[in-house]
Amino acid sequence: MLVMMKASATQEEIRAVCRKIEDLGYRAHPIPGAQRTAIGITGNAGPVDANPLEALPGVAECIPVSKPYKLAGRELKEDDTVIDLGDGVRIGGPELAIIAGPCAVESREQALAIGAAVRTAGARLFRGGAYKPRTSPYAFQGLGEAGLKILAEVRSEFGLKIVTEAIDNESLELVEHYADVIQIGARNMQNFSLLKRAGRSSKPVLLKRGLSATLDEFLMAAEYILAEGNYSVILCERGVRTFANHTRNTLDLSVVPAVKRLSHLPILVDPSHGTGRREKVLPLSRAAVAVGADGLLIEVHHQPDQALSDGYQSILPVQFEELLGEIRQIASVVRRSVPAPEPLRPAVRTA
Ligand code: PEP
Ligand code: MN
Repeated sequence: MLVMMKASATQEEIRAVCRKIEDLGYRAHPIPGAQRTAIGITGNAGPVDANPLEALPGVAECIPVSKPYKLAGRELKEDDTVIDLGDGVRIGGPELAIIAGPCAVESREQALAIGAAVRTAGARLFRGGAYKPRTSPYAFQGLGEAGLKILAEVRSEFGLKIVTEAIDNESLELVEHYADVIQIGARNMQNFSLLKRAGRSSKPVLLKRGLSATLDEFLMAAEYILAEGNYSVILCERGVRTFANHTRNTLDLSVVPAVKRLSHLPILVDPSHGTGRREKVLPLSRAAVAVGADGLLIEVHHQPDQALSDGYQSILPVQFEELLGEIRQIASVVRRSVPAPEPLRPAVRTA
């Protein structure tokens, strides 16, 4: 059930309703909306009695939630969630979130070279794994904390926000210290203890869709994070397994409008893992923007032939620049925008 407060409800009235919910033995999730605050209730095994809540000052009505995801759904929050990372970088707003960088942080030189290139082209967020979930235990597993320190340097050098993956509870402790956004990868979409731990973090979480996850499973995975009190969740479509063998995965762009209908959470598209082929990244990026994605996550490498992971799907900096130029035009058709290119100058440096 959710409690809709009146538009005129005061903060004290909202707090009093939350206290009452907690006194009844449940958890209260106050979510401010554009017009009014809704309070989600979790922790109830059966139906919640609306009577003691409906009588409280400031309450407009109590509404039963029809979906299994109580906090991720539009029933709780009609308007889109916009996640503010500071310095004018937002995910879910009119400006598309462009996250770019290598699959893995390989060295300081590599990360700084790619960071400079993507920043100049217009990206405001940098990606790169310090912990890599690899199919083979013999493949490069990432630099670990040394990689996180390099990412911190990329942030201070270029003013880029950092998105990087946590693969388990142990790495999450470190990732949340260094990153601006914690990525949970496709293979971990149903790692429930990791989702719960991410839900107790103060950092936003970028949750990638599992390799064979249905939309309901995807939203329920997000619900695990929200239910712990972290309401800053960003969904990311990265392709699912099908019989197709002309691509690494099948990028399911139809999930974007499907998510938009059911959920208030932002959804990004990753055409790099979604196709696995460099030449398909540009066409699928165009399509992702046209279909209404809130942004893109793109693998970029200055020397893709020497990349330690995912070189085949990594585009060159010059191709990334062209890509942003093209999607800038498509974005304007769907009333969105793409950050402008920004020649590097000392002023953009934060350190
Ligand atoms: C990644 O973003 O580098 C990654 C490993 O992605 P996914 O979890 O989607 O495979
Ligand atoms: Mn990758």
